[in-house]
This record gives sequence, structure tokens and C-alpha cells, in this order.
Amino acid sequence: MCESVFKVLLIGDHSVGKTTFVASYVLNKWVPNLKTTVGADYAVKSVKWSETETIRLHLWDIAGQERFHSIARTYFRGASGCVVMFDVTNNKSFESAREWKQELDSKVELPNGEKVPCVLLGNKDDLVDKKVVTQSQVDKFARENGFIHYSFCSVKEGKGITEPMSELIKCMLEQE
Ligand code: GDP
Ligand code: MG
Repeated sequence: MCESVFKVLLIGDHSVGKTTFVASYVLNKWVPNLKTTVGADYAVKSVKWSETETIRLHLWDIAGQERFHSIARTYFRGASGCVVMFDVTNNKSFESAREWKQELDSKVELPNGEKVPCVLLGNKDDLVDKKVVTQSQVDKFARENGFIHYSFCSVKEGKGITEPMSELIKCMLEQE
């Protein structure tokens, strides 16, 4: 049995759903009104990748610091992968995704000098009537800014959570 451990960062504007995403992914259920149950340092998610391979993800959430855009360098250190999250009902959070990606690339790189693989996730896709960010906008943005994958998700409905994480794991394994 072989096990790989990866540090994965979750970044994005305040209230896009990062903490809820981590909790739901780790606990496999929707956790409303979350306080600080997850998020001291990181939460651990084990993924059975194949018969012989288990992946352990250390998911680093930024609890509150995102408001000030002053994330400590230690947070980025040793990261193997990243999720930049925005809220599909909040255009500002989508615009911020560019800055978050730039911050990631300026603060950390892989040991081989490559960029840290990063997934772009548009959350709250259940709020159909309030959605302001379109598929084509995200498509263009993700290609221009070097994301390895992008998709929409609804943590609330439990949709689109595991697929993008699998894409990230694939990429992290290739970079190992
Ligand atoms: P964070 O600041 O990025 O960590 O965001 P939180 O995880 O604290 O979530 C902010 C708010 O968005 C909370 O009230 C969540 O319940 C809500 N939320 C998170 N994911 C979803 C989702 O997929 N759909 C909807 N409608 N609300 C969500
Ligand atoms: Mg949070």
C-alpha cells in the first residue's frame, strides 16, 4: 500500500464557501452554520485512489485572513496544489480570483520550479436566479490564467465537489 501526502490550499474571497467546501468534502455531507470546527491549521481528507494507493490531502483553509489579503508565507510553503474559489453570484469574487492566482504564483512554486497546479471553482451554482458569472467568462479566464481545470459546484447540493479534486490529485501525482 502506498500513500502520498499533498498540501492543498483553499483561497478566494471571504464567504465564497471555502470553509463549507472543506467540511463537506472531508465529512461527505453539507454542514451549515459552520463555526471553526475545521480550520485550525488544516483538515485531512483520505482518498482511496486505487487498490494500492491512498492519497492524503491536507486541506489548508484561510480562516478570516482573506479579508485583509495578508496571507502568511507559511500558509503557502510546501503546497502541492491549490483551489481558487469564487461565488457565481458575486462578480467581485470572480474578479478577485485573478489576484488570488497571482498571489499563489508569487509566493510558492513546486520544488521543480513549476507553478503549483491550481483548480478554479465557481461555487453556489444552486443559486441559479442570482448567477452573474457565465460559463464562457470562466472558460476564457481559466485558460488565460493557467488553471489546470475549472468547474462550477454547489457545496450545498453536494455537486461538483469530488470531480475537480480528482483532477487536482491527478495533476499532483504527475508532478510528484
Ligand atoms: P468562506 O468565508 O469562503 O469560508 O465561506 P463559508 O464556507 O463560511 O460560507 C459562506 C456562506 O455561504 C455560508 O452561509 C454558507 O452556508 C454559504 N454557502 C456555502 N456553499 C454554498 C452553496 O453551494 N450554495 C449556497 N447557496 N450557499 C453556500
Ligand atoms: Mg472560511
